[in-house]
Amino acid sequence: MRHAKLSPSSSNRWLHCAGSVEANQGASAESRNAALGTAAHELLEMCMRVGTGPDSFRTAVLYAGHTPDDDMVEAVGQAYDWINSYMAKYPKAKLCIEYRVDPAKLVKCDPRLMDGTLDIALDNAPHELVILDYKHGVGVGVWAEDNTQLLQYVVGYVAQHAVTPYKKYRLVVIQPRHRHEDGPVREFEITHEQVLAHAKRLHKRVIDIKKDPDQRAAGDWCRWCAGAGRCKTLTSYNLKVAAMEFGDTTAKPRSPQEMTDAELGFCLQQWQKMIEPWGKALYEAAHTHVMAGHIVPGWKLVHGRSVRSFNDEKAALRSAKEVLGDAFKLDDFAPRSVLGVPGFEKALKAHGKLVKQNKKWLLPPPLLQHVVKSNPPLHIAPESDPRPAVQRGEEFNDGPDSSTDVD
Ligand code: SF4
Repeated sequence: MRHAKLSPSSSNRWLHCAGSVEANQGASAESRNAALGTAAHELLEMCMRVGTGPDSFRTAVLYAGHTPDDDMVEAVGQAYDWINSYMAKYPKAKLCIEYRVDPAKLVKCDPRLMDGTLDIALDNAPHELVILDYKHGVGVGVWAEDNTQLLQYVVGYVAQHAVTPYKKYRLVVIQPRHRHEDGPVREFEITHEQVLAHAKRLHKRVIDIKKDPDQRAAGDWCRWCAGAGRCKTLTSYNLKVAAMEFGDTTAKPRSPQEMTDAELGFCLQQWQKMIEPWGKALYEAAHTHVMAGHIVPGWKLVHGRSVRSFNDEKAALRSAKEVLGDAFKLDDFAPRSVLGVPGFEKALKAHGKLVKQNKKWLLPPPLLQHVVKSNPPLHIAPESDPRPAVQRGEEFNDGPDSSTDVD
């Protein structure tokens, strides 16, 4: 699919760093996670167009060969249910699915410079316009508040369709797989004046980028920059962080053991936000370079571990039987094993045998007595993580409840 030079999905990057527009020209590397996200979007689109939930598409082959597993069906199902409950409440609202919008008319820029395809628009004129973005990612949380991608879609939709202003505009992000303090659905409301203000901001940015296309600024947004592995600005930013410049430019780098607790917290945050993604970008840039026949001093191309597999498992079993004759036992080659607790829950739920208690589905008592819970491992997480903090000394209390929520 064509991506506009100043596309909505990369707006947080180019609104901060003009030089990233040039640095991302022709970038096409797609990670496995991005392919999985595209597949999940495809599933949501199919559900909305056909009007049935994701469970009906279990056998569908989606983008890059992905098929909907339980995780994807559950996550996409949440977006599907949210949209359907909105449509049930406002049956006259117009539903737009995978809809191309171009803000050029309001931003006063070249057509297709900033266009993009929104996931879902719910046009409930004149009451409200809802722009919904489904995020399948699990790692990086996305907020609805001041979400520049959604704002650009709103400007695009209004530029093309709005004869009169809507009373309000609602930005909605549904990201079911990410643990977020505000839950899987995040919303933010804006006024028509704010929509127009964002159009002005976009217009000014187009002019600024034209004036100074090389101006670079590093920050969180570098995570999504295809040029990160070769960017001097990002390199010096990260080296500064690594050298621990806490306002004292003469400070020497220190080991984690020598840092104060505040410094340790700050560095960990920077590592998660900036240095870890930068390391990945460096690896990808060097890999691409070496694959193209160049030499990166100190590095070489090597074979990874290859995995052996059967091209036909049934034929392999038949051959093993031929070799062993009467001594062949199927369980030696294809062992059956007992499912785990979630597998039991799923099987019993299909028979309507789970027990509902306090808005949770539980295994029936004869099975519940066999369930044991291990002490959950302790991790550290950012303060924004929605899980309650564990106090030292209480770590062996019950961990999080793993029973299934009632649908
Ligand atoms: S890595 Fe960061 S600073 Fe460098 S071009 Fe990309 S967005 Fe700009």
